[in-house]
Amino acid sequence: MKKVAVIGSGFSSLAASCYLAQAGNNVTIYEKNETIGGRARQLKKHGFTFDMGPTWYWMPDVFERFFKDFGKYPSDFYELEKLNPAYRVYFGSGNYITIEDTLEKICASFEKEEPGSSLKLRKFMVQALDNYNIAIKDLVYRPGVSPLELVTFQTMKKIGQFFSTVSEDVRKEFTNPKLISILEFPVLFLGAKPSATPSFYSFMNYADFGLGTFHPKKGMFSVVDGIKNLAQKLGVTIKTNQNIEKIIVEKGKASGIISNGKKIETDIILSGADYHHTETLLEQKLRQYSKNYWNKKTFAPSALLFYVGFDKKIERVDHHTLFFDVDFKKHSEEIYDSPKWPDEPLFYASFPSKTDISVAPAGKEAGIFLIPLAPGLVDIPELRVEYFEKIIDRFEKITNQEVRKYVIFKESFCINDFTTDYNSYKGNAYGLANTLMQTAFLRPKLKSKKVKNLFFTGQLTVPGPGVPPALISGKLVAGLIEKEKK
Ligand SMILES: Cc1cc2nc3c(=O)[nH]c(=O)nc-3n(C[C@H](O)[C@H](O)[C@H](O)COP(=O)(O)OP(=O)(O)OC[C@H]3O[C@@H](n4cnc5c(N)ncnc54)[C@H](O)[C@@H]3O)c2cc1C
Repeated sequence: MKKVAVIGSGFSSLAASCYLAQAGNNVTIYEKNETIGGRARQLKKHGFTFDMGPTWYWMPDVFERFFKDFGKYPSDFYELEKLNPAYRVYFGSGNYITIEDTLEKICASFEKEEPGSSLKLRKFMVQALDNYNIAIKDLVYRPGVSPLELVTFQTMKKIGQFFSTVSEDVRKEFTNPKLISILEFPVLFLGAKPSATPSFYSFMNYADFGLGTFHPKKGMFSVVDGIKNLAQKLGVTIKTNQNIEKIIVEKGKASGIISNGKKIETDIILSGADYHHTETLLEQKLRQYSKNYWNKKTFAPSALLFYVGFDKKIERVDHHTLFFDVDFKKHSEEIYDSPKWPDEPLFYASFPSKTDISVAPAGKEAGIFLIPLAPGLVDIPELRVEYFEKIIDRFEKITNQEVRKYVIFKESFCINDFTTDYNSYKGNAYGLANTLMQTAFLRPKLKSKKVKNLFFTGQLTVPGPGVPPALISGKLVAGLIEKEKK
């Protein structure tokens, strides 16, 4: 029985731990924070409950496949509800489109906006489904070891889709700017601009319109809790408040960790902490990727988040509400091309208490606001306040109601918190973007090339950002560890 030390307790670490324990290893998770879940931690305050990170439960099939590997179903651990509407997108005051829970209904909304667009949407979705079947059912479950993993009969037929972009494809078919924004929105989860994301990633549109948006009762944290319970049943030990300060390497092999100043011996180390940070726990000569390497990479955005308790029910919003009433292109340039605090940011607001009474006291509303930002910006309290005021002004105008005076409390979370809480590179929120040059075998590797028995998982490695990819990353690395042992 091998002793495996897992650094971090995000989705990827938790998933990998389940597979490794199932394979008969003695697995211990070491998490620096007081609570588990990593970016998917939970905040509880004055009777309100907030998911601090992920709020969109997409690709339910990936979660089912994960639990099936252990003879279980998601419903053994948490209750899921399909949201209808899935979300609402505002383009101006009182001007919005609602995305409902079936393609039929979505086609009807498109047709209303732009006659003839529903036919184009159906055609677009045929390709999106085909890509979903190739990518999410197969390709993403390959460990990114060799470029040949991407060479299949099906991908060869679609080679052109790796060299055109989602943005180009959408604009070829649609002219209505609102429909364009809605169709470009799903790839934002991959961390790059739609104009830098290969067309093949239109599978995200199938995840959105074809599969729909779900809400786990009590929030995304109930998924963390579910996987934790599974892990513990499989024999995984979870230790919190354990800051790993160093990875010990002897004769080229990982042999231990220093946690809170104490040495712990182990056979194998798997880090689900951010890849860049994990390498800083090694001596310089044992790191695979240089400062320059990380500096040149396209990181997914960071974010300014507010978790707000409101002393009333908020009107004219849905569980997920997007505010695309300003120039999308300009804001994305301020994230990727000339990083700065945006002049007029797009933002996202979530009101989970619209569907889930467990997350706010009766008659009150839990609100989460998210502004995407370039990683590495200067983050000071004054700017947080300024941006809260900015978006609340717009929120009040667009939804035609007063909300500011009903704020019971607000907590913010931004670049400095991502850095201190998660050791995140430049305070990125969700890892390394999925651009063409940062796809599959071109991403940082699951296995260290320099240190034997040292492995990596999570959103900076394969397959990429998001909760479903984190679960897949955990499975991939566990498979690689088992293969190495043979
Ligand atoms: C604001 C936000 C919104 C998001 N929205 C969505 C969404 O709606 N849907 C979706 O699917 N995805 C979403 N994501 C992305 C998703 O949450 C992440 O991709 C996923 O949770 C990452 O999991 P992970 O295991 O890779 O890393 P993490 O969750 O970051 O886990 C890494 C863990 O390692 C720990 N750690 C770091 N250093 C050390 C150390 N030295 N010692 C011990 N422990 C250490 C950290 O504390 C952390 O717990 C969102 C992310 C954010 C931040």
